[in-house]
Amino acid sequence: MKRLIFLGPPGAGKGTQAKLLADTTGIAHISTGEMLRSAITSGTTLGKKAQTYVDMGELVPDDLLLDLLLARLRESDAKNGWILDGFPRNASQAAFLDKLLIEINQACDYAINLEVPERVLMDRLLVRGRKDDNPETIRRRLEVYHEHTAPVLDFYLQEGNLKSVNGDRPLEEVNKSLQEIVNGDSRE
Ligand code: AMP
Repeated sequence: MKRLIFLGPPGAGKGTQAKLLADTTGIAHISTGEMLRSAITSGTTLGKKAQTYVDMGELVPDDLLLDLLLARLRESDAKNGWILDGFPRNASQAAFLDKLLIEINQACDYAINLEVPERVLMDRLLVRGRKDDNPETIRRRLEVYHEHTAPVLDFYLQEGNLKSVNGDRPLEEVNKSLQEIVNGDSRE
């Protein structure tokens, strides 16, 4: 059983790699971005409240997200481990998760930082074509990442479970490095 947190800037490949790893290992893939997009598409109350933030590349306020995550972590598939993709995105979410995991008697094995140079991120996001992948929103999402999410790396560094993976490589190679971490035979 593994519990992993995928960190890294927008465009680093978190979603793609988390999905691939989830498919090959059977670990549940939990993407807060996907959960929000699905709430927006279904037009739920949460979706309606979250939409402007997502469209503008801002973080959705914690109070909208925390219950959503809590409910998802309590679903049965998450009992056998999880890959958190896109959460935590700021210091208060990291603190919330830390407290929550203690409460539910779970622990994160590794926080994985997918590292990709900034110019590559921009190029990748521009060809992806999601609604929030226009140049202006991408710029804002990168700013938000540096301002709010990058400091979270320090939190996991202090905890001693941060692993950095070079995400600027072919998809299969990145996946191989992640598999090695999951299988416990990673070389530092
Ligand atoms: P993602 O699919 O992870 O790139 O997320 C897309 C968008 O969803 C982000 O730009 C935010 O607006 C929102 N979002 C996803 N996860 C979070 C989170 N943990 N906290 C706040 N907003 C989030």
